[in-house]
Amino acid sequence: MTDASPSSALPAEPATLAQIGQQLAGYDPQALSADAVLAFLEQMVQPLAGAESVPLLQALDRVLAEDVISPLSVPPHDNSAMDGYAFCGDSLPEAQRLQVVGTALAGKAWVGQVLQGQCVKIMTGAIMPPGLDTVVPQELTQRDGDLVQITAGLLQRGDNRRLCGEDLMQGQVALQAGTRLGPAACGLVASLGLSQVRVRPRLKVAYFSTGDEILSLGEAPREGAVYDSNRYTVHGMLHHMGCEVLDLGVVRDDPALLEGAFTQAAAQADVIITSGGVSVGEADFTKTMMKKLGDVAFWRIAMRPGRPMAVGRIPQGDRSAVLFGLPGNPVAVMVTFLAFVRPTLQRMMGMQATALPLLKARSQEVLRKKPGRTEYQRGIVSRNAQGELQVQTTGNQGSGVLSSMVQANGLMVLHHDQATAQVGDWVDVMMFEGHL
Ligand code: AMP
Ligand code: MG
Repeated sequence: MTDASPSSALPAEPATLAQIGQQLAGYDPQALSADAVLAFLEQMVQPLAGAESVPLLQALDRVLAEDVISPLSVPPHDNSAMDGYAFCGDSLPEAQRLQVVGTALAGKAWVGQVLQGQCVKIMTGAIMPPGLDTVVPQELTQRDGDLVQITAGLLQRGDNRRLCGEDLMQGQVALQAGTRLGPAACGLVASLGLSQVRVRPRLKVAYFSTGDEILSLGEAPREGAVYDSNRYTVHGMLHHMGCEVLDLGVVRDDPALLEGAFTQAAAQADVIITSGGVSVGEADFTKTMMKKLGDVAFWRIAMRPGRPMAVGRIPQGDRSAVLFGLPGNPVAVMVTFLAFVRPTLQRMMGMQATALPLLKARSQEVLRKKPGRTEYQRGIVSRNAQGELQVQTTGNQGSGVLSSMVQANGLMVLHHDQATAQVGDWVDVMMFEGHL
C-alpha cells in the first residue's frame, strides 16, 4: 500500500517564483514581512496528491485523506452510566421502594418485563432494559432482600443513562479530511469499529547542514569549528510533525558535494531543508548551487532572529522538491522553521488549520522594539499571584544561544507593527507544547 518513492509534490506545475511575487502586492525580496512570507509560501506549495489505507495503529500522526463517516451509532444502545438500579422515571419524585426483578450486566441484553414499582439492578455500560430510562446510583440506595430503598433526592428522569448515538450518530461525519490523527482521533476511529483509515502520503523531507566549520558528531573538535546542532533540531521538529526524514549529513563547501546532495535530496524527497550559507555576505557555494539547480528566491525577512532565507523549487526528472534554505544560526533555524516551514509543510501534508495558537501573557519586562519587523524572543510563561499568565525572557537573545530554546517554553511574538512593550503589557506567545 505504501509507495517507496516520493509522492508527486506538485501535481500541476505551479507558477514560477517570479510569477508568485508579481501577484503579491508590494513583494520585495529584500524586505519581506513575516506575513508576506506566509502569503508567498501559501501560493508556492500544494497539498500532496494521493492517499493510502493504513492499519489504525500505523495511522498515528498521519493526516486523513477523506472524511470518516460513522458506520454505526456510538454508543449503539441506551446504556447505564453507573452501577445502580434502573427504573422508569414516571414514578419520580415519589419512587422510594422498588422491587428488584433482575440484573442487567454489561455485554448482554437483559430480557424480561418490569412493572410499575419494580427495577433492575444494572451495571455500567449495560443496555437499559426496554421502558426504563433512569438509573439511581448504588450509593444512593439501600438493599433489603429483593427490595431497594432509594434516596431519590435530586434524581431526575433520564439521569445516569447514556443515550444511543450521543457520541456519534450513524452516517454522521466523525472526523473531517485534513484532521491529524492524534491519540483521541485514533481512539474515535476505533470506537467506530474501523481498523483501516485512508491517509495522505507521508511527507518526505531531506535535510543537510552546510558550512566548512560544521563538525558532525564523532569528529574531533578543531579550532574554529562547531558541532552541528541544526540537523538535530530539524530532525526533532520534523519527526514531531509526522514527516519521513532523510538525514544527508554535513555537506562541505564544495560544488561537487553540494550538487550531489541537492540532486539526491530532490530525487528522494518532497522537501529539502538546508541550514547555513544563505546570508548576504556568504562567500560559499551554497547559494550559487541553489541558483544553478533550481528556481530559488533569496530573501531578507524583516524579522529577528532569522533574517536571510532561501526558498524555491529544485526540479528533478518530472517533479520538483520544495527548498528551504534556512539561516545557519541554531535559534534562527528553529524560529524560521516554526514560523514558516511548519505551516508550509502542514499545507503540503493536507492538514487543516495550520495557524499556531497564540496565548496572551503579561510581559514581566520592558521589551524594546521598533515597528517594522517581527521579533521572536524566547519566553518563560508562568502564572502571577492573580492567576494570570505572565512571561519573561530567557535573557541573552543571541541567535546562536540554543540553551535559550531549552529554557523557554514559548516564543514571544512581537508583531511587525508593534512597538516597545512595557511591564504588564499583554504580549502574544507561541507555546512550544506539542511542537518542540
Ligand atoms: P551562516 O548562516 O552559514 O553564516 O551561519 C551563521 C552561524 O551559524 C555561524 O556562526 C555558523 O557557524 C553557525 N552554524 C551554521 N550551521 C550550523 C550548524 N549546522 N550547527 C550549528 N551552528 C551552525
Ligand atoms: Mg556559513
